[in-house]
Amino acid sequence: MTAVKRLLLVGPGHAHLFVLEALAQAPWPGVETVLVTRGRTQLYSGRVPGYLAGQYALEAVSFDLEALARAAGARLEPSGASSLEAERRELRLGDGRTLTYDAASFDIGSLPADDGVPGVREHAVPLKPLEQALSRLTSARETGPLLVVGGGAAGVELALCLQARTGRPTVLLENGSQVPRGASRAAARRVRGLLERRGIHLHLESRVTRLEADVAHLDSGERLHFGTCVWATGPRAPELLAASGAAVDAQGYLAVRDTLESPSHPGLFASGDCAGFISGQHVPKAGVYAVRQGPVLRDNLRALLTGSGTPRPYRAQSGFLSLLNAGDGTAVGAWKGLAFHGRAMWRLKDLIDRRFMERFQRLAEQRGNG
Ligand SMILES: Cc1cc2nc3c(=O)[nH]c(=O)nc-3n(C[C@H](O)[C@H](O)[C@H](O)COP(=O)(O)OP(=O)(O)OC[C@H]3O[C@@H](n4cnc5c(N)ncnc54)[C@H](O)[C@@H]3O)c2cc1C
Repeated sequence: MTAVKRLLLVGPGHAHLFVLEALAQAPWPGVETVLVTRGRTQLYSGRVPGYLAGQYALEAVSFDLEALARAAGARLEPSGASSLEAERRELRLGDGRTLTYDAASFDIGSLPADDGVPGVREHAVPLKPLEQALSRLTSARETGPLLVVGGGAAGVELALCLQARTGRPTVLLENGSQVPRGASRAAARRVRGLLERRGIHLHLESRVTRLEADVAHLDSGERLHFGTCVWATGPRAPELLAASGAAVDAQGYLAVRDTLESPSHPGLFASGDCAGFISGQHVPKAGVYAVRQGPVLRDNLRALLTGSGTPRPYRAQSGFLSLLNAGDGTAVGAWKGLAFHGRAMWRLKDLIDRRFMERFQRLAEQRGNG
């Protein structure tokens, strides 16, 4: 009799949804799967700004992890992972128990960087964990002007969507020379026009040097008063990766080959934001990239654990259609050097997000409760 192999799926990120889907469709013989999460639901970040704008109910932006795990024949461990001993192949759970594994796959996302700015941890709302950010940003106690620090796609969407629902005076602050950071000139022009029309004040080439309870000090010497400060300056690596003994990249993300497997510890995988590609291929930390890694991860884990198929490399797409929700029934769409704004873009974003969510929600409903 062959021994059962244990697969740990750590974190319910985008790529792991594809592994769970495959397991629900056809179980992998001789494989026991454990899904390690923080809690029993997973928020879909692509729709979170829409939820904050009042466009969606909470159920429309959440996955039921218990049902998904049940559909996939996996055991759910909702106390989270607190540490990894890569050498000993041991994962410690949040409740103190330890699990050993034959293969462990990390898809735990990233955390918001505080950039070492004093006062951020005490006085700002960090974007992640999303659950905590959401409860703060929907709380009636949050009043006064809204300050969003960080003009990446998420920061721009949040400024637009929170302002759409609350009508609060809103400032978007970015230390670069345009928003969204890294967008094409056409997209930046559209977004700038939109922010102007909506009365959202844009502060470019500005850096926060210190936060107090209701004041942001800028490098220019200016002071901005706020009721709520959302910190959205970019990602940083979860600490448990660098502490695991496995190879990490210069930023502390789990080092992986293009097959998504660790070069130092075979059987250890990473995908999504928490993966650092050592081949040097450019893989932005965005959900759309995590999604495309899903089928590769699924196939490579199956090949390792069941011996069927051969591992294949993930190749990042050269660009993607970016759709920013403006929170008012319109969206800005950007593709290569082109940009559009209007209701059609919003309908397209809603459709793409709905299809993605329904694919996995349906799976949970059909198989999870049967
Ligand atoms: C407001 C907002 C809007 C965004 N909109 C878009 C968008 O429209 N398009 C896009 O491409 N990108 C978007 N992004 C970026 C996107 O969220 C991330 O790049 C993406 O979610 C990364 O996916 P992932 O699979 O790596 O992990 P995630 O989707 O972050 O999932 C990781 C999960 O693992 C859990 N976890 C963390 N630590 C542990 C642990 N120790 N144990 C167990 N579980 C753990 C987390 O709680 C989380 O549920 C947005 C980000 C934000 C904040």
